[in-house]
Amino acid sequence: MIPVSKPYLPERSKLDKYLDRIYETHWLTNNGELLRELERRLASHLNIDKEQLILVANGSLALHLAYKALGLKGEVITSPFSFIATASTIKWEGLEPIFAEIDSGTWNLDPASIEKRISSHTSAIVPVHVFGNPCDVTAIQSIADKYQLKVVYDASHCFDIRLGGESVLMHGDISTISFHATKLFHTVEGGAIVTKSKALAEKIRKMINFGIGEPYKFDCIGTNAKLNEFQAAMGLAMLDEIDNVQSKRAHLWDTYADLLSNRGVGAQVRHEDANSNHAYFPVVLKSDHQVVEVINLLEAEGIQARRYFYPSLDTIDYLGAISRCEISNDIASRILCLPLWPDLKESEVRKITDLVQEVVDK
Ligand SMILES: *Cc1c(COP(=O)(O)O)cnc(C)c1O
Repeated sequence: MIPVSKPYLPERSKLDKYLDRIYETHWLTNNGELLRELERRLASHLNIDKEQLILVANGSLALHLAYKALGLKGEVITSPFSFIATASTIKWEGLEPIFAEIDSGTWNLDPASIEKRISSHTSAIVPVHVFGNPCDVTAIQSIADKYQLKVVYDASHCFDIRLGGESVLMHGDISTISFHATKLFHTVEGGAIVTKSKALAEKIRKMINFGIGEPYKFDCIGTNAKLNEFQAAMGLAMLDEIDNVQSKRAHLWDTYADLLSNRGVGAQVRHEDANSNHAYFPVVLKSDHQVVEVINLLEAEGIQARRYFYPSLDTIDYLGAISRCEISNDIASRILCLPLWPDLKESEVRKITDLVQEVVDK
């Protein structure tokens, strides 16, 4: 079976080197030495200030904390073309997700549509840099400034993405990222919050630890969103191998792109001033029917492809959308992510593209 993604496991001896330190100190969690080392190394790798980076237990909690720390109220405008967590965390926090339309090329929120959805109850915009493709951050920030709204970017897919040479995580009031096992860089489960605001960063550091400032002082409402030392060990071992992981992914991604370009398969329009991290290989086919045909053919050959993101979130009852987003529904019905992970073989990519082509050329 060839899965759509396969969590990367760093060399056992490298991981053991970090785990040995946990066994020596018996420090398992609560701002341990491995966590601090990971924060330092990640910040330097991503080219951001370490004061601006807060590691948390997972990417969903990063979103919850972002909304809470900013004190959002009422309505939040977000993307219907995303993983369920973007919108469900909004709803869970007692906020109303309002879906704006996406652009049919970039698959990111269309700024003109964001502006149309603003009401007197809107407190924030939560755009998603879909598949690590940066949004139109300039247009979104100017809308936010005009209506005095907060911006939280769901940058879950944005490990190592730079926009105009700077980390894309520097945009918005807060950006969040996920380090889940299936993401490009992972800590088994994990995530991070990035903010330029020193005051916000300080508040969030307390919020992830029950709101505790110093011993016996409870400064604000908090929860438990800490990343533990075992997770940090995995992150450090992953970082040791990240260059290798990325070059393997880039090679496979390029192979897919070469084989499928101009062959009746649609691709995402990427931001001109940004790099790609080759985390996903999404294609857009002619119809929902064609997607199902490709999935079935691949499956018969023991290959798994996934409909990311499907269905469009405005169709999910409990999220309570009031209007349909036609473009998002159209893209969601025709999208397919093909297998992509570091140790996938080039011959397997060739086989997969042959099978896709067989259906597309019919
Ligand atoms: C993975 C993901 C999340 C959630 O992250 P977890 O670490 O799995 O909680 C949120 N948003 C998007 C777009 C994601 O892909």
